[in-house]
Amino acid sequence: MRFTTIAGQSLAVEAVPLLEPERKVIRESLCHRDAGRAHLAIVDAYGRLERRIQTAIASSGMIPACHPGCGWCCHGVKVNVTALEALVVAEHLNNESTSLGEAVQAAAARRRTMNTDQLFASKDPCPFLDSSNQCQIYEVRPSACRRHCCMDSSECERAVSNPELKLAVTQHAPANVAGALSALAWAAAMEDAHLDYRMFELISAVAVALQPGAAEKWVRGERVFDAAARAVDEQDQATIRAELGNDSGRVRQVAPPANTWKGHGKKRRQPRS
Ligand code: SF4
Ligand code: SF4
Repeated sequence: MRFTTIAGQSLAVEAVPLLEPERKVIRESLCHRDAGRAHLAIVDAYGRLERRIQTAIASSGMIPACHPGCGWCCHGVKVNVTALEALVVAEHLNNESTSLGEAVQAAAARRRTMNTDQLFASKDPCPFLDSSNQCQIYEVRPSACRRHCCMDSSECERAVSNPELKLAVTQHAPANVAGALSALAWAAAMEDAHLDYRMFELISAVAVALQPGAAEKWVRGERVFDAAARAVDEQDQATIRAELGNDSGRVRQVAPPANTWKGHGKKRRQPRS
């Protein structure tokens, strides 16, 4: 079966056994047109995603360098999310009564004027990063943040500190791919359910999602996220496709050598912030 996503891609047939069940479970939740059920569906999906990433890491025998308080990757980076992921973050902010809403609106206004390269050069910290480099929305952080695991934090530091050099960082390919496939399955399920399945910049999307009634409008099929759509997002879709094809200039993918199980069972990946 051909698996068509937001980018109109045909994915490798080996990916279908993972994608189709995930797509089905999310699609069935979305068909009820109920914001609460949609919210629960993605929270459950995050649990499955975490297990897939941990399994991919354990099977690879390669341990990413990510650890709490290491937040280089949260500076100047455009995080792509689906509308549903942004809605879950907004719901979390509302429930926690945090004061992050104003920071989100200010950061969204700044970021709307920047394309991906300009944002990277700005080193603008994610508004969810606190002064200790901890993610304040860790439990509901998007799939892109969950799957971004790198093998050497000094590479991340050098890349962020010297944006003009456009240095590559070495990603943990199995974890990255496992996470990316899940996110694509969710987007495909949204498309199946005739919902807005586009990808948006995280902060702009959360700024929209914080507006009253945004979740209810989205599950009814309204394009409430048009306000978060930016011309530069079109350009970034090409980057996403390149990353999924392991062909990005900024990211090196590292896969385990055959029959190597170094470190398997000795350590577990630490949350990155
Ligand atoms: S990707 Fe991992 S190692 Fe790199 S900055 Fe982020 S948490 Fe640190
Ligand atoms: S949401 Fe959290 S993990 Fe993702 S970029 Fe922001 S601070 Fe970092």
